[in-house]
Amino acid sequence: MTPVNAYAAPSATEPLTKTTLDLRDPGPHDVVIDIHYCGICQSDIHIVRGEWGPRSYPLCPGHEIAGTVFAIGPAVTGHRVGDRVGVGCLVDSCRTCANCRRGAEQYCLAGHTATYGSVGADGRITQGGYASRIVVTEDFVLRIPDELGLAEAAPLLCAGITAFAPLRRWGAGPGRRVAVVGLGGLGHLAVKLAVAMGAEVSVLSRSPDKRADGLRLGATEYHATENPETFPALAGSFDLILNTVSAAVPLDPYLSLLGLDGVLVNVGAPADPLSLNVFSLLRQRRAYAGSLIGGIRETQEMLDFCAAHGIGADVEVIRPDEINEAFDRVLAAKARFRYVIDTATLA
Ligand code: NAP
Ligand code: ZN
Ligand code: ZN
Repeated sequence: MTPVNAYAAPSATEPLTKTTLDLRDPGPHDVVIDIHYCGICQSDIHIVRGEWGPRSYPLCPGHEIAGTVFAIGPAVTGHRVGDRVGVGCLVDSCRTCANCRRGAEQYCLAGHTATYGSVGADGRITQGGYASRIVVTEDFVLRIPDELGLAEAAPLLCAGITAFAPLRRWGAGPGRRVAVVGLGGLGHLAVKLAVAMGAEVSVLSRSPDKRADGLRLGATEYHATENPETFPALAGSFDLILNTVSAAVPLDPYLSLLGLDGVLVNVGAPADPLSLNVFSLLRQRRAYAGSLIGGIRETQEMLDFCAAHGIGADVEVIRPDEINEAFDRVLAAKARFRYVIDTATLA
């Protein structure tokens, strides 16, 4: 076991503090990664605060990891020392169930191993990327193309793939009208990705405050949902709506914005239940769906797509001792658009 510096929550109600974690000794198929940057996803906040269910503590969050390979186990074939690599929300799965075999490890029927807060192969609780180093089995380590800066690439590992997978699944592309609800970490990447896929993209944000940003990111339209005229004016306007909002919002007004066969996909994950009137679905044969991150193959495809289209996250790099303040700013939707921790300074 090797001790590494990290920030972890001692409990669901306390701020994260500096600590050390014991990393497992690398096995034959393990890759030891020096973490340069780790993004702060709002899921980190939901999870460390126990909003999605009870957790074991101390808990070091972080699943938007970008760094370089420090060492490899003797059987590793896909990564070399010095390679630029990333780790997202998954660090293992059963690999044999029907879903794993088709590259949908996030939906592993035996339950995937999450980057932090899961029971790992060694029986210990996995710990995430708010640390200077991590050990991950080679098949769950992604290649970060040279075109992408490591800080801008880190948020792609969760926010990027979470937006990319449903945009692909529900056909964002030329001739398709896509709306992105919530212009945060997920939302700003969803706009960039949908624009790069060729769709006509609108931003639906609460207030007019982020208009200049939304248009700069490539959206052709921007609408403030706090304006009571927005919903009637946009009725039936979209083929696909991606809801990235972290809080429970009323669904019927958003469903009313879909045309025939339109789909509202929830990627935002509020702990509170959402409700809808079934007539919102019957009219215009609309569908309501959810989507969880993406599989390993698709995550690599997303990284390569981002490299080809020059897409990285808009990041604000922070010091590790600024994490708790950054959590508050994320909850106040003040990030533009992702805080990324300079974890290299923990080494
Ligand atoms: P974020 O950066 O904080 O963005 C969330 C956005 O939602 C905010 O920028 C804000 O947009 C809007 N919002 C926040 N509070 C709101 C409220 N009370 N009412 C209406 N709108 C509100 O968070 P994120 O990291 O993008 O994550 C967004 C959600 O996705 C979280 O619930 C997270 O856990 C979840 N998530 C899910 C997956 C998945 O696999 N499905 C993966 C990652 C994250 P405006 O200011 O533009 O209104
Ligand atoms: Zn995340
Ligand atoms: Zn499986």
